[in-house]
Amino acid sequence: MKEQLEEIRRRSLAELADDASEAAIEAVRIRTLGRAGELTEIMRGMRDVPQAERPMLGQLVNQIKREIEARIEELKSRNQQLALDRSLSEAALDVTLPGAKVPRGRIHPVTQILERMLAILVAMGFEVENTQDIEDDFHNFGALNFPPNHPAREMQDTFFVPGAMLLRTHTSNGQIRVMERRRPPLAVVCPGKCYRRDDLSVRASPMFTQIEGFMVDRRGRITMAHLKGLLAEFARAFFGPDTKVRFRASFFPFTEPSAELDIHCLLCAGAGCPVCKQSGWTEVLGCGMIHPNVLRAVKLDPDEYGGFAFGMGVERTGLMALGIDDMRLFFENDLRFLAQFSAISGGTR
Ligand SMILES: [Zn+2]
Repeated sequence: MKEQLEEIRRRSLAELADDASEAAIEAVRIRTLGRAGELTEIMRGMRDVPQAERPMLGQLVNQIKREIEARIEELKSRNQQLALDRSLSEAALDVTLPGAKVPRGRIHPVTQILERMLAILVAMGFEVENTQDIEDDFHNFGALNFPPNHPAREMQDTFFVPGAMLLRTHTSNGQIRVMERRRPPLAVVCPGKCYRRDDLSVRASPMFTQIEGFMVDRRGRITMAHLKGLLAEFARAFFGPDTKVRFRASFFPFTEPSAELDIHCLLCAGAGCPVCKQSGWTEVLGCGMIHPNVLRAVKLDPDEYGGFAFGMGVERTGLMALGIDDMRLFFENDLRFLAQFSAISGGTR
């Protein structure tokens, strides 16, 4: 019996060599210490051993058990340490590698242009008021002196929405909304989106941004000369101090007299290009003295009050300022295009 035990000890410890695999270690454990293992069997057979030898053999069995257990424990913890070292060395972090770049968001160029325009106008003393995109006929057309069958209503090709409403075709509804709520003196700009049934093209978009501006006070205090001076100053502040401007007589139902402000086409420097329709000039905005009927619509007496109004397209003006020749680029949202406008600064491109 003793020799048998010594043999189990010798063989097991020999198998539990330094390079023993996990499977080999487990095999030794099951063969010797398992429920049907060799040492377990010997303990069970102890009753057949003469009384006098039992304590010595029992001690020996326990000693061998502890030795094998200790050796298995030693090998296992060493293997764990080796595995840990290996995984640490494989996953080593190279702190000299450049970090993964998180792309930085930018303000859309149209918003940047709008904000610059508003900053200039606010510096001139205008307040900013936002009004609604979904409008009724009265505030988009009627109060702005468009008669029911006025050709401009067809010309503008309106998007109508259920409930006798429409998507505003210009930000001029802002004039009406603000003057209904507030009395002069007023110097207000209303920025916002406008909608017309145009196809997206080099020069047009079914949705675009405008700024409506108006100034109203006691009759006679605000003249066409103020309007002209203000807009010429705006053009120089926005496009650059050397910008050439011209005013052309025009027609709008809601102003009388009416004018359009052109600037020298910045894309072709006046030589003629598709954006300026080969004229060398680009229309920047429409303006004029507020029509008496518009004042009447908001219950202001045109004999007592008067003022001017102007409206400009933000994208169209942005084309000029940024030297871009295609309006569609603003709406396609190609990141390669947008990424060029991290910050639009200064008065010129
Ligand atoms: Zn041009």
